[in-house]
Amino acid sequence: MGLRLWIRRRGAVSTAVLLVCSAGVGMCLLSVLYLSGALQQGCDCSSFQSKRSESLKVAEGQHKLAVLVPLRDRFEELQDFVVHLSQFLEAQSVQHQIFAINQVDNLRFNRASLLNVGFLEAGEDFDYVALHDVDLLPNTQDLTYFFPETGPFHLAAPHLHPRYHYPTFIGGVLLLTRKQMIEVNGLSNVYWGWGLEDDELFARLRDAHLVIHRPGNITAGLKSFRHMHDRRVRKRDQIRCFDQQLLTRRRDRRTGLSTVRYTLLERRELTVDGAAVSVLNVQLQCSRQQTPWCDCVQNTGNSPKEKRREIIHALPPEDVIAPKIDWKKHISPDG
Ligand code: UDP
Ligand code: MN
Repeated sequence: MGLRLWIRRRGAVSTAVLLVCSAGVGMCLLSVLYLSGALQQGCDCSSFQSKRSESLKVAEGQHKLAVLVPLRDRFEELQDFVVHLSQFLEAQSVQHQIFAINQVDNLRFNRASLLNVGFLEAGEDFDYVALHDVDLLPNTQDLTYFFPETGPFHLAAPHLHPRYHYPTFIGGVLLLTRKQMIEVNGLSNVYWGWGLEDDELFARLRDAHLVIHRPGNITAGLKSFRHMHDRRVRKRDQIRCFDQQLLTRRRDRRTGLSTVRYTLLERRELTVDGAAVSVLNVQLQCSRQQTPWCDCVQNTGNSPKEKRREIIHALPPEDVIAPKIDWKKHISPDG
């Protein structure tokens, strides 16, 4: 650093030094020596600096997790979830905040869009997110919710999820850094109703060359999570209308974080037995031109199966979204 710059950085005192400097080089050097001595008397700068960098390191190490929970009509599950997960994450010293993104419009449920909204509304305080189903409670502390440094971390892995065991499954609970979520433009917004949105996210992560990691050495196996889901009470919306299969079985490079349309009606800060949750009441918006299946109530307006199959078969394989679920091997308490 040049002398003048060094001097300028020391504010008012340095103005005096500059004046002295203009009186002669010798005097100038003397006053610079005096000034640096005075500064050193004021503090032990070396130890101050090392303390400061230590505290910076701590700050850098303090990752903050936003738990994003898509929600509709599952208030009982939410109450259990918030109490359980708060205690669970506290035990791991994971700094976190839970957001329930509650869909309050009359459209079909859209898990992916709610996760996009949660990400946008949580703000920039968080450097990673958990895309978290409300009905999955981690049962073992072997499941760690730490910052996913090396790539997306799929906690509800196929060998641990109580219901879904196919190799490319990434639903249930997935940790992503802010950067990773932005890189893939979040999730597709075309998935109204149950299923496939997580399989499309798998294709996004794959195309972005993000390597998915999963927990190893978990002795609890299929008991690692409790799935609070009775399918007779919480029915999955498997209605298919207006050829939605044609678009939802196909990779979407168009919609995502950048295109989700919604209104945030209100934000409520609730506590359940002392555990905090921010509830975001959200109205999603649907373009009926692009996704006419966003509010149908029965199977209608679909092309014959053979025709649909033909169209899907003509796509490049990497554009086909088709999870390989082996329904024969498929056993789970909720069916
Ligand atoms: N969900 C919800 N209300 C619904 C449908 C789904 O809150 O009507 C949320 C909830 O967080 C749930 C997740 O979406 O855990 C996944 O849906 P679901 O449990 O029906 O699917 P599964 O993974 O059991 O097939
Ligand atoms: Mn479920």
